Amino acid sequence: DMPEKLGKLRVIQPDAVHKICSGQVIVNLSTAVKELVENSLDAGATCIEVKFREYGLDFVTISDNGSGIDPTDYQSLCLKYYTSKLTEFEDLETLGTFGFRGEALSSLCALARVTITTATAVQAPQGIQLEYNQAGILQHQAPSARDVGTTVSLSKLFERWPVRYAQFKRNARREYAKCVALLEAYGAICEGTRIAVYHHNGKPGQVQGLVFQSNGRPQWLDRISSVFGHRLRSLLLPCEMTLESDTFKEDQETDSAWTNLATPAPTFPLSVGPKISGYISQPRAGTGRSSTERQYFYVNGRPCELPKVARVVNEVYRMYNGNQYPIVFLNFELAPGTFDVNVSPDKRTIFLHRESELLVQLQERLQALFEPTRSSYPVRNLI
Ligand code: ADP
Ligand code: MG
Repeated sequence: DMPEKLGKLRVIQPDAVHKICSGQVIVNLSTAVKELVENSLDAGATCIEVKFREYGLDFVTISDNGSGIDPTDYQSLCLKYYTSKLTEFEDLETLGTFGFRGEALSSLCALARVTITTATAVQAPQGIQLEYNQAGILQHQAPSARDVGTTVSLSKLFERWPVRYAQFKRNARREYAKCVALLEAYGAICEGTRIAVYHHNGKPGQVQGLVFQSNGRPQWLDRISSVFGHRLRSLLLPCEMTLESDTFKEDQETDSAWTNLATPAPTFPLSVGPKISGYISQPRAGTGRSSTERQYFYVNGRPCELPKVARVVNEVYRMYNGNQYPIVFLNFELAPGTFDVNVSPDKRTIFLHRESELLVQLQERLQALFEPTRSSYPVRNLI
């Protein structure tokens, strides 16, 4: 009953849909905003603006200067499983990690009032405003002046779902704070894309305030500074390491069978272990608050949860500083097929293959990183 292809968007085959973790992708404000930011990044935006009114209770809008949406896609945009991004399961397995499931907009329509204004380079400065109903069906369209790019506005978020709405209302400030933390995580990592976040408390006579603005510069430390301030800069130790994968060594040995053949041996990558890069605060300069505050983990440049890695980082750090937790920015470059994703409702939790082996190596490397700083401060809890 669903046409295969409408405009540029194609429908993901139903059996592929089963293989990826479908279901409720949007469970709170952060997941809603995350999906929209991902869409803006996918659209090649170099500038993304996120505006909250009353902690998102009133509305949240995400504006970008990306490609804009092609007119042939207006109808299918918010229908379930329509995506312009891919159609094959192999791709989904890899890229599903990053939210390409053709579900975000359709889910949002069920949860909020969705209005989109968009213009492609061909159309700008003449754009269009599109309104969708809760089934994702285009209800209304009207011309609207705008530059190239897309703005998605969500209002009445969760209002149709009394239990979730009550929860959202009760925890609005905390939810909003989580959302800002997630946007900071994007702002700190995204190169070539500036992210600005604004908040208006909804009271008459008040003006909207800038929460933060990232600069998208090529140096990661510059981007971190733009989000978290310059003071942090001098406290961070650079951290670069490539972990080894034993799997690879085994592959290489079996490879000797090729030496006698005329056919050239297949070439393997030098190391399939994860490459880790980023920054950790020096042991004398952690944060006293909680272990998750100011700890940002990324897989292939996208914010993710790596719970076991986080635990090891905290444990090692606390050997050198028993009173605080480290401030951490760590990006894991992982090859496809070396990790599993749990696209569980509100998190994107990653599990590394051969995790325990890798964690042992990580622990050793981190100790080697901290050890030279040992003499420069009093050490506690060293057993
Ligand atoms: P997915 O991202 O998995 O494709 P979504 O429901 O998030 O699914 O988005 C559906 C489609 O809408 C995308 O494939 C894309 O073509 C289009 N789209 C959504 N947001 C934007 C945007 N900000 N700019 C351009 N196109 C967008
Ligand atoms: Mg998406």
